[in-house]
Amino acid sequence: MFDTLIIGGGATGMSCALIIGSALNKPFAENKKAGIIVHQKTSHLQKALFNNVLGLTPGTLGENLLETGKNQLNKLYPRLTQIEYEKVCEIKDYESYFEVITNKKHYTAKTVVIATGYTSPFTIKGLENYLIPHQMAKPEKARVQLKNVLHLVKPKLYVAGSLAGWRSQFAIACGSGAQVATDILTLWNNGEHTKVHDKK
Ligand SMILES: Cc1cc2nc3c(=O)[nH]c(=O)nc-3n(C[C@H](O)[C@H](O)[C@H](O)COP(=O)(O)OP(=O)(O)OC[C@H]3O[C@@H](n4cnc5c(N)ncnc54)[C@H](O)[C@@H]3O)c2cc1C
Repeated sequence: MFDTLIIGGGATGMSCALIIGSALNKPFAENKKAGIIVHQKTSHLQKALFNNVLGLTPGTLGENLLETGKNQLNKLYPRLTQIEYEKVCEIKDYESYFEVITNKKHYTAKTVVIATGYTSPFTIKGLENYLIPHQMAKPEKARVQLKNVLHLVKPKLYVAGSLAGWRSQFAIACGSGAQVATDILTLWNNGEHTKVHDKK
């Protein structure tokens, strides 16, 4: 049973995973198990070229960030499980946990973060009731989002990034993933507002 399972290995999911991973050595997270289904095949980063993002060298390719992100996560925070080569097909909602069904396996998690991007059709079964047209994209693009309040679709079920209704900019996607990560850490830490900062 995962305490938190992140779905989607793009800008949002990886940012969320990095921050949760960085907290796993804290006392409040001692027994927590977190993971990411790090599917990247359909990430918008695959085609992106970045000149306008603070901290990224102009000319950085999104496809390289996908790879370096996984390596960073693996090297710095190996306690966070990376699940590769699987795509989520369905999420079943039980009273106290979720079952996440991929094309290969089944996982259970107490908290789930969905960060699969705003492209339609949205193919994960079980979330149809929350699916609405994207509120901040051109209607002719037929983008989608999940209904949410401050990233919460329902208790313990989060959506982040472009699928949460944010505009598609790299920094916004990363920020949304980071926000959800700190919300989950705050939950883990009995409601005490929590962030993870390293100091030199
Ligand atoms: C051509 C192009 C150029 C861009 N240029 C810029 C730019 O110059 N500056 C800028 O700020 N932004 C730019 N962007 C936007 C930026 O790439 C997006 O804002 C960002 O990628 C959105 O992050 P996301 O996590 O919401 O979605 P994504 O990065 O698309 O990630 C979604 C992830 O979910 C995974 N996934 C999907 N379905 C499933 C499933 N069923 N199960 C498991 N995983 C799944 C996908 O494989 C993917 O890895 C550009 C985008 C494109 C397409």
